[in-house]
Amino acid sequence: MNAKTVVKTGTLPTICRQCDMHCGIKVHIENGKLIKISGLDSHPENRGSVCPKGLAAIDTVYHEERLLKPLKKRPDGSFEEIPLGQAMTEIATKLLEIKEKHGARAVGCWQGEALGFAQQEKYARRFIHAFGSPNFFSCDSLCWASRYLAYGLVQGYWNPYSDVQNANLIILWGTNPPVSHPTFMKSIKEGRRKGAKLIVIDPRLTRIAKQADMHLRPLPGSDGALAWGLIHYLIEKKRYDTGFIENYTTGFEEFSAYAKEFTPELVAQKTDLTEHEIIGCCQMIVENLPRVANYVGVSIEHQDNGVNNLRAIACLGGLCGAVDIPGGDLWPEVMGVRDLNLYEKLPLADQKPVGADRFPVLYSFTKECHTMTGMDYILGKGEYPLRGLIICGGNPANTNPNAQKVAQAFSSLDLLVVRDLFLSETAKLAHYVLPAASFLERSELHFYTQHQWVSLSRKIMEIPGVVDEYSFWHELAHRLGFGEEYFPWETEQEVNSWLLEPTGITVDELQKRPEGMRYKPIKHQKFRDRLFPTPSGKFEFSSHYLEELGYPALPEYVEPLYLRDRSKDYPFILITGARKIVFLHSRFRNIQRFRRLHPRAEVEIHPEDAGRLGLQDNDQVRVMSKIGSITLPAKIVQEAEIRPGVIQITHGWEQESNVNRITFDMVNDPISGFPQVTSVPVRLEKIDSV
Ligand code: SF4
Repeated sequence: MNAKTVVKTGTLPTICRQCDMHCGIKVHIENGKLIKISGLDSHPENRGSVCPKGLAAIDTVYHEERLLKPLKKRPDGSFEEIPLGQAMTEIATKLLEIKEKHGARAVGCWQGEALGFAQQEKYARRFIHAFGSPNFFSCDSLCWASRYLAYGLVQGYWNPYSDVQNANLIILWGTNPPVSHPTFMKSIKEGRRKGAKLIVIDPRLTRIAKQADMHLRPLPGSDGALAWGLIHYLIEKKRYDTGFIENYTTGFEEFSAYAKEFTPELVAQKTDLTEHEIIGCCQMIVENLPRVANYVGVSIEHQDNGVNNLRAIACLGGLCGAVDIPGGDLWPEVMGVRDLNLYEKLPLADQKPVGADRFPVLYSFTKECHTMTGMDYILGKGEYPLRGLIICGGNPANTNPNAQKVAQAFSSLDLLVVRDLFLSETAKLAHYVLPAASFLERSELHFYTQHQWVSLSRKIMEIPGVVDEYSFWHELAHRLGFGEEYFPWETEQEVNSWLLEPTGITVDELQKRPEGMRYKPIKHQKFRDRLFPTPSGKFEFSSHYLEELGYPALPEYVEPLYLRDRSKDYPFILITGARKIVFLHSRFRNIQRFRRLHPRAEVEIHPEDAGRLGLQDNDQVRVMSKIGSITLPAKIVQEAEIRPGVIQITHGWEQESNVNRITFDMVNDPISGFPQVTSVPVRLEKIDSV
């Protein structure tokens, strides 16, 4: 590889973007080659630590399978290398043909994790609106954004930060931070060092659960019932923050009336916890009021009543008086940079963004189209055709539920362009594959709202023929005739300066301070001098906005579908999504030392269930859902690690090992549209060896 570093030898600070934690790192360079990555002690996010994925940035950059040349698919399905100029000309021509034939909205853009969100995502959003289509997709219609909706609906601020460092009690719902969010784990450790108690709510005995003062293992999908049980107790015992509720909230009367039915006895039935466990949890909350920090993981989002379960947890924070106080749910403030999005100038809402009619709350809060509905549009079952997609760093053919349907849809497109670092399963389906720049080959702003902090990453190296995201969108926009108006900046540096202009902080200042700087002092209880940004201006236990859209106003509990509609044919419950620290969704499985640690997908199963099925470790087991089956080796875990009747398969594995071949795309949370992938009814069958 003919890479060129910006200095021949030296150590350069920058920001890691192997995942969404954006840690400060130092890149060590010798004779024009990156040789090591270490942590930047002065960065507030990671304070010097680097996880294995961050260390592997060098493996990623120099990987022998790294895409370095544009590829075009031949009629026989193989790829040929072509010059970048030719690829861009042909892509632009095809985009105009689709626009001419079906209208601009027949084209969409899709941003994925591998090339980053934030600024990179905004380039894609800007491009597609400037092109005339409202159809922007990302994994935010199936991961992470559901909590934004829930907290946004309750308190207006989308992205509260659980101030675990200053909490008296930390409650983790369905998350395993030592593996999924190492930097957040550092904050939890800090809180624990200062004396915080820890409750972990998870059906599995995870790494964090082993450290907890209390580990509750409710039935998958029943977290909402538990949240209501805790609410019931606080109200019954009158241990809630009356001042906050009287002055700053709405809907408390009907909320408390609804809570009445969630007695410990009923909640025990619904969750399969004991009354003793439920009351013990309530008492621990009461003993530690008001500094109770709730933090929710994506597994709550992936329940079929996910948003309302999350709303109930957000309401619990209000009852505790933990809203925007140290040790509670902080409302970080944004920096106020310029916006690359064009939603004000070119809203295009009349163009009927895909899925906005089915899931109006998702679209209203995130301006995201619904990716799973998008597959139906591509397959000709939508209100209008969707015929072209540009996907940057996403691998939905692996990571979306019902993966076969995604592959079928993508294979039927008139134009699929994929930009990525590697030839992913999605890239293999593309007409054009373009090599993308890694985070070490670009410069962008990084915001840490929890610290009210901004950093600027720097370009460490360049690879001839590999362009960064901004250069790609800039070039394509100019070829399509709207570059002058919407992508006028020649370089990332110019974009960064334009973004920062209204803030008073400059690119120069950030370049001199590689760890970055605080953009605003942190203030607490901001609701005392400003309204909550909700329709009522108050913290909303009950939402008239939702009611008007036909949803229940209260965050009502609905039992998971597998309990409402029990099936003898599918007696096991499949949980997906448990993380391995060295992988992130489908990424990093091509790093050999990671692959040696976790060489294959496995069905994690309770010993009793394995015994009933006659399974030994490594026996092949077929896992069948209503839409398909996969066959994987069994891994019999310790009794305490998983509930009987529940199995776990980590997502992100390739082809026949991909658990998304059996997850559903059309069992969705009615508010967010998120797929239910943490409680999928399945059947197991041992495959006898021949
Ligand atoms: S957690 Fe790891 S991969 Fe993520 S930004 Fe930090 S060092 Fe990089």
